[in-house]
Amino acid sequence: MQKIQMTTPLVEMDGDEMTRILWQAIKEKLLLPFVDLKCEYYDLGLPYRDETDDQVTVDAANAIKKYGVGVKCATITPNAQRVEEYHLKEMWKSPNGTIRALLDGTVFRAPVVVKGITPTVSTWKQPIVLARHAYGDIYRNTELKVPAGGLAELVVTDENGKETRRPIHQFAGDGVVMGMHNTDASIESFARACFNYALSIKQDLWFSTKDTISKTYDHRFKDIFQEIYDAEYKEKFEKAGITYFYTLIDDAVARVIRSEGGFIWACKNYDGDVMSDMVATAFGSLAMMTSVLVSPDGNYEYEAAHGTVTRHYYKHLNGEETSTNSVATIFAWSGALRKRAEMDNLPELSAFADRLEKATIDTIESGIMTRDLYLLSTLPEKRAVNSMEFLDEIAARLRG
Ligand code: NAP
Ligand code: MG
Repeated sequence: MQKIQMTTPLVEMDGDEMTRILWQAIKEKLLLPFVDLKCEYYDLGLPYRDETDDQVTVDAANAIKKYGVGVKCATITPNAQRVEEYHLKEMWKSPNGTIRALLDGTVFRAPVVVKGITPTVSTWKQPIVLARHAYGDIYRNTELKVPAGGLAELVVTDENGKETRRPIHQFAGDGVVMGMHNTDASIESFARACFNYALSIKQDLWFSTKDTISKTYDHRFKDIFQEIYDAEYKEKFEKAGITYFYTLIDDAVARVIRSEGGFIWACKNYDGDVMSDMVATAFGSLAMMTSVLVSPDGNYEYEAAHGTVTRHYYKHLNGEETSTNSVATIFAWSGALRKRAEMDNLPELSAFADRLEKATIDTIESGIMTRDLYLLSTLPEKRAVNSMEFLDEIAARLRG
């Protein structure tokens, strides 16, 4: 069989623990037999990040900027326990945070929907993609406890030293106060990432904030989205047959629950954090959530939303059988290959990405699945298989 050719390298970022094992197996069983993979490899596994003083993460992010598309395995974000476990020189930062900071992106998360795993919300027929603004608000806040009698004020000093002051609260009893910010530049790039992503997957875009209560802060988000939409995207959306729709967050929540799915829901940082967990859980399993980081200048990084599945890895090291779900990682690869195909105009590669996803879904819908799905599936005939058997079943369907 002739292998499918690629023209531009894909930035491949290896990772840690159980997902590193799946990564290798996915390549061997599902990709290399069919595609003449052209990848630029970066080892983001914790030992090599430590060895290179985390330079490898920065190099990988720069390679994504150069080539436009990357695919990433889950990685450990070190904490004190990991510093000891891996004898690290330092408690390195989250690779995802480093990459996001360099690409300045927005994270889109979408569930893989299969028959037998019924969303908790019975009206949902198609995936809901959640777009979360990944900068500012309460994630970069400054907060204080305020003793009784305290006066809290908001003070902005301009570049000439002139102060603008607003009272926040005169405290009769003890309390708390918080300051937070966002920037027009970050909101603008969030807006463009959302509009571009909607065009790339041809789905409607919803955006929601609490602008009725927050008449300056949240209203700024609403205005920036509208201005950019009118100036740069209105025509493109009309041509693609999709719509942009703004509504209050309360109204959005009610509409989302009554909807059939099949759209992108853009949220501010906190709303996105909370709502993405709700949407993921209601669709069934974290192991079925895919994630893509889209930068305002059109670079894409694909990954699974879950972590390195540490508990399964320790079982694996003990020689015990594992049944770890590789769906989100497979879809990270198919998403990245499809995007590469689109940029390089390679229809065969794009068709392969479709076939890989179909073979994966067919496997589960035929009743063969990993244990996490087995516990949820309503199919009358189902069988739980181990991590490698699941990949072999997909490979058999891919060979046709
Ligand atoms: P996790 O790896 O997502 O796993 C949490 C639990 O969820 C697992 O123990 C397992 O439950 C279930 N699970 C998640 N993915 C699964 C899959 N593919 N198949 C089957 N079950 C799955 O989260 P964590 O244990 O909190 O974090 C582990 C490491 O991952 C940490 O070092 C963290 O820093 C890192 N992390 C990385 C990323 C990333 O790179 N994007 C994201 C999150 C976390 P059962 O044990 O009940 O089977
Ligand atoms: Mg969260």
